[in-house]
Amino acid sequence: MKAAVVTSDQKVEVRNKDIRSIRSGEALVDVEFCGVCHTDLHVKNADYGDKTGVTLGHEGIGIVKEVADDVSSLKVGDRVSIAWFFEGCGHCEYCVNGRETLCREVKNAGYTVDGAMAEQCIVTADYAVKVPEGLDPAAASSVTCAGVTTYKAIKEAKVKPGQWIAIYGLGGLGNLALQYAKNVFNAKVVAVDINDSQLELAKEMGADLVINPLNENAEEIMQDKVGGAHAAVVTAVAKSAFNSAIDCVRAGGVVVAVGLPPESMDLSIPRLVLNGIEVVGSLVGTREDLREAFEFAAEGLVVPKVEKRPIEDINDIFEEMQEGKFTGRMVLDMSL
Ligand code: NAD
Ligand code: ZN
Ligand code: ZN
Repeated sequence: MKAAVVTSDQKVEVRNKDIRSIRSGEALVDVEFCGVCHTDLHVKNADYGDKTGVTLGHEGIGIVKEVADDVSSLKVGDRVSIAWFFEGCGHCEYCVNGRETLCREVKNAGYTVDGAMAEQCIVTADYAVKVPEGLDPAAASSVTCAGVTTYKAIKEAKVKPGQWIAIYGLGGLGNLALQYAKNVFNAKVVAVDINDSQLELAKEMGADLVINPLNENAEEIMQDKVGGAHAAVVTAVAKSAFNSAIDCVRAGGVVVAVGLPPESMDLSIPRLVLNGIEVVGSLVGTREDLREAFEFAAEGLVVPKVEKRPIEDINDIFEEMQEGKFTGRMVLDMSL
């Protein structure tokens, strides 16, 4: 079967790869769509270590083709997700206390195990979340990482209806963060991005204030206009955005770190202590978070902007992503 595999020179090759037979607890999925996340770009660039040989993809959606004899959670014909949180151990403190994405023995699709940028993918059946009826599968692919990650991040931000939340980075994750923040959490949104086309889309999607930090001082505007945001979610792949987020919130504000640039942020200790600011890292979402995030999309509250592309376009898509050439999400369509 065709698969998008990381090569030693940090490219991706679409090649034929054999798929093994399923084992106890597993299911075989015929992949329909797989979104291209900026994390895939980090993985293929070896930002977190060499991943030569792995099949990328953790925004996968497909139809179950076969299940192992002992599987009761899925049946042939179900539509399921293949997410970054691919499997936890099921018994550690994190797995049992509702923070399963922090499991120390976690497996991640397209990173530690082969992912969904392929015609077929093997999943651990109990960890593949079902896609609700009525949700378009290409849209569902975006919810599988971008959607659930930002939905969870906004939960971590603890914003109440009517409060202000700053979203840094309005790319694949950010435009869904904006929609969950506005349409599900009923918050007011400040959209911050260095790319004007992302800000245009943010305006169309209802952002209450948009700021391009290349031309304006985001922290000053937010402090002046709204008295500081109550929270910030940072999906931007740049340290400067994390630093700005710390300064854009009001006293008691929460800064949720989501983007993964492989560098460190500055953190003024007096600013942190004297203003009681919370800084939290947030990693994708649990299976239950994904189920909830799917439901809101199925209800039409969140509509991912997707463009379907053939798997052969993967290297071009990464280049376009790096250069900020598109808005929304590029989704590999396995039928093209
Ligand atoms: P993307 O490339 O689609 O979007 C990134 C956006 O950030 C772009 O719109 C870009 O213009 C903007 N940006 C860049 N520099 C900026 C700056 N200084 N200020 C404001 N905006 C800036 O990427 P994506 O798919 O949305 O992913 C974003 C990041 O989130 C990546 O680092 C990815 O690895 C990470 N991620 C984290 C999780 C998690 O669980 N924490 C999950 C998925 C993705
Ligand atoms: Zn992702
Ligand atoms: Zn565990």
